[in-house]
Amino acid sequence: MAQEYDLVILGGGTGGYVAAIRASQLGLKTAIVEKGKLGGTCLHRGCIPSKALLRSAEVYSTAKEAESFGVMINDVQLDFTRVQERKDKIVEGLHKGVQHLMKQGKIDVYEGTGRILGPSIFSPMPGTISVEYKNGDENDMLIPKNVIVATGSRPRTLPGLDIDGEYVLSSDEALELESLPKSMIIVGGGVIGIEWASMLSDFGVEVTVLEYADKIVPTEDHEISKEMQRLMKKKGVKIVTSAKVLPETLEKGEGVSIKAERKDKEEAYSADKILVSVGREAIVKDIGLENTDIVVEKGFIKVNDFLQTKESHIYAIGDVIGGLQLAHVASHEGIVAVEHIANEKPEPIDYTLVSKCIYSNPEIASVGITEQEAKDNGHNVKVGKFSFRAIGKALVYGESDGFVKIVADKDTNDILGVHMIGPHVTDMISEAGLARVLDATPWEVAHTIHPHPSLSEAIGEAALAVDGKAIHS
Ligand SMILES: Cc1cc2nc3c(=O)[nH]c(=O)nc-3n(C[C@H](O)[C@H](O)[C@H](O)COP(=O)(O)OP(=O)(O)OC[C@H]3O[C@@H](n4cnc5c(N)ncnc54)[C@H](O)[C@@H]3O)c2cc1C
Repeated sequence: MAQEYDLVILGGGTGGYVAAIRASQLGLKTAIVEKGKLGGTCLHRGCIPSKALLRSAEVYSTAKEAESFGVMINDVQLDFTRVQERKDKIVEGLHKGVQHLMKQGKIDVYEGTGRILGPSIFSPMPGTISVEYKNGDENDMLIPKNVIVATGSRPRTLPGLDIDGEYVLSSDEALELESLPKSMIIVGGGVIGIEWASMLSDFGVEVTVLEYADKIVPTEDHEISKEMQRLMKKKGVKIVTSAKVLPETLEKGEGVSIKAERKDKEEAYSADKILVSVGREAIVKDIGLENTDIVVEKGFIKVNDFLQTKESHIYAIGDVIGGLQLAHVASHEGIVAVEHIANEKPEPIDYTLVSKCIYSNPEIASVGITEQEAKDNGHNVKVGKFSFRAIGKALVYGESDGFVKIVADKDTNDILGVHMIGPHVTDMISEAGLARVLDATPWEVAHTIHPHPSLSEAIGEAALAVDGKAIHS
């Protein structure tokens, strides 16, 4: 039987389920169609499971260095089965939490594959959603006034480098490893690649990163990516930049080997397995877009500032629209889309205010533009930098690598970007994010008296350093 809704959301990942909760708060009769599990990539194959593994890796590597803290632990052992069990328990708990939130919001959840059909008998506009079930149950028909497409993304690979789940993995398969390989080649030194390189290295795996660009984490500020490269090497990770991987040279046997072209020469690399982390492609196929006028550009759904597609009653949010493929961006887009549907007059998202984090050990976090981007945009730039080496709390933690860098405009005193590498910077970046939202100057950040001893003192000192006034440098 056909059910009518104010809003039907295709995909119950971070973008979709948060949009549903906001819609329910605004009194919209809402349904989610989810073909996998509520929580999507972030909860089941992304943010949460990867961070759970990263934390176990960090504990393991800290335990091995416990002696330097005066704590003697003999014979530190890693039980990877328990590492995986801990990860699964965290994911399971949060999954239950999302299911509870759906019930609490009286949001109907259809556990099947959704597709947009053509115009319905109630409306000349396309938007009717069919829900198909794996068990062969008869399709449901949903008739919504509005639709949000939040179907997310899946791992990309290089043409010819097929993910076989045994020798060649994407992050999806890597998260489910039953045991750790002795060695791993990681193709791609971006966010996901570097998180895995850091984690596997902390677990004691021999890691080689092959990166096509001339630096790892290439979208970060130049000094940050240089420092990360240094610190990864210090950990024992082999970093090979300007390396064009040649999929046709892949050989499988005892382990895997593959060649990469560097400076007109071919170099061979071998390991137990290969992890491919070269980005994610949007899920735009088989969701019925052909029954609409929705435009797909370079593989992503095209939207306006309020996340509307060319069909104004069909919105799209999250990884499926490209841009910053981050969970907090997806959920914020969901909120903006719903508020637009409900005539709440939301502000369009300013993506330069979004914090971006890499949860490697050490971490990277940034908001705003890099020093180079600021110069390219014609700003008269001034920079303040402060090292964690001069921060008492960082020394207490035994994690004093890294720094905070603030890029500001000399003429307007605006903070253009804040870039950090070091301990717990992913928890500290929100101060910089708030400073950007409130249009604070470096002076205002510096005069937000930072507690002592705390890692956040590095932000205060970097803000002072912008005008040459850092105290402890
Ligand atoms: C290894 C890894 C680590 C990551 N770490 C972080 C991190 O630390 N921080 C961060 O911010 N981001 C991180 N991300 C990115 C983050 O996971 C995504 O940006 C986020 O999940 C996007 O949310 P979404 O709602 O757009 O899509 P998704 O979470 O992918 O959800 C889409 C949902 O739609 C469903 N779906 C697809 N097609 C249909 C259909 N036809 N019918 C019904 N349902 C459908 C899917 O099953 C899925 O559940 C990570 C990603 C990966 C892979």
